[in-house]
Amino acid sequence: MARIVLKFGGTSVGDTDRIKNVARKVKAEVARGNEVAVVVSAMSGATNQLIKWVNEITPLHDPREYDVVVATGEQVTIGLLAMALQQEGVNSRSWVSWQLPIKTDSAHSKARVIEIDTTEMDKTMSAGEVPIVPGFQGVSPEGRITTLGRGGSDTSAVALAAALKADRCDIYTDVDGVYTTDPRIVEKAQKIDRVTYEEMLEMASLGSKVLQTRSVELAMNHHVRVQVLSSFDEALGSDLPGTLVVDEEEIMAQGLEKSVVSGIAFARDEAKITVTQVSDRPGVAAAIFGPLAEANINVDMIVQNVSLDGSSTDITFTVPKADLARAVQRLEQAKAELHFSEIKSDINVSKVSVIGVGMRSHAGVALKMFETLAAKGINIQVISTSEIKISVLVAAEYTELAVRALHTAYELDAA
Ligand code: ADP
Ligand code: ASP
Ligand code: MG
Repeated sequence: MARIVLKFGGTSVGDTDRIKNVARKVKAEVARGNEVAVVVSAMSGATNQLIKWVNEITPLHDPREYDVVVATGEQVTIGLLAMALQQEGVNSRSWVSWQLPIKTDSAHSKARVIEIDTTEMDKTMSAGEVPIVPGFQGVSPEGRITTLGRGGSDTSAVALAAALKADRCDIYTDVDGVYTTDPRIVEKAQKIDRVTYEEMLEMASLGSKVLQTRSVELAMNHHVRVQVLSSFDEALGSDLPGTLVVDEEEIMAQGLEKSVVSGIAFARDEAKITVTQVSDRPGVAAAIFGPLAEANINVDMIVQNVSLDGSSTDITFTVPKADLARAVQRLEQAKAELHFSEIKSDINVSKVSVIGVGMRSHAGVALKMFETLAAKGINIQVISTSEIKISVLVAAEYTELAVRALHTAYELDAA
């Protein structure tokens, strides 16, 4: 008997027929003798609608009240799924976050899970009851409802799997696994059978929203075996039809050959800022990025241009689009100290990345990327690299062309 956490995303619980379909899947896993706990998202579109309402009241809202509102989508689906399971003759009940509790920090709208107390739930599972838990939702040390950031139900599921010491966490979604790139953009994308935690972490953080980044981090740290699979296929998670996220050693041990590049990701949620003619002296970078860090704004890619006259230089970097206005405001406030000429910003940019652990031992991966983009006439605005990825910033209108060309260049296209 295995203990499995099953997570169903928004599309998988998008209407009541789909919730009934989920109930049949859960029932089938139970019928195989497995001990099952379920995490669900809100119905697709529900969270967007809730956020829209919040912003219609005021865009400058109290984040604690924002969480009270946006966490409700998941409360609807846990109740509906528990009922659907009861209809199927499966003993089931729902739990909201404070009933377990799922303890998080107080960072409202982007809270981190600290601990999940499964004592009570464990007892009911041993007695054969299937618990249904809301994704995305937690409770702060102050006893207030928190949410874990968009896509956070993946993280709830992995955190619950870690707390329950589950054998596996199955993430049911609307695609049948992790692909070499978003299959909705590149028709020839290929399903990957096994991907390492490290590669999945890079893919997620660089824009592949199939798993929330934090969920991969948690899975890696707690050695949770994660499988991504489709809720619309007949196959059950226990037959391992999807993509498994595993340790690199496991892939090596099986003698599976790793390609140098395993995936291409893209993200359209960053904006580019250029601060022109700042003085070229020690301490300037700290003076620019200090105020941004204080404002809790994440700076991602950075390039400092060569100074032409030896006295001043331009610095270009990216920040989340959502933080652009605040970032510009903070820099303007620091103008007296920074002595720059102007701040230029551009939201029509997109970050395209190639990812692969094989890059560690292979030269020429970056060159191929630059040559491929050049051949398509795509200008590279900023570059950043790590051991297992290369990212470039390009004009947003070239995103799909760049992703497709790179997918072909690294021989990832399906035959
Ligand atoms: P859910 O609502 O189930 O959480 P999401 O929309 O969050 O589903 O994530 C699934 C989507 O992720 C897919 O529909 C797909 O378009 C997108 N996606 C992006 N990159 C990838 C990738 N490399 N492999 C698979 N899916 C991807
Ligand atoms: N419902 C939340 C969202 O749409 C969480 C999730 O679906 O993972 O972001
Ligand atoms: Mg998701």
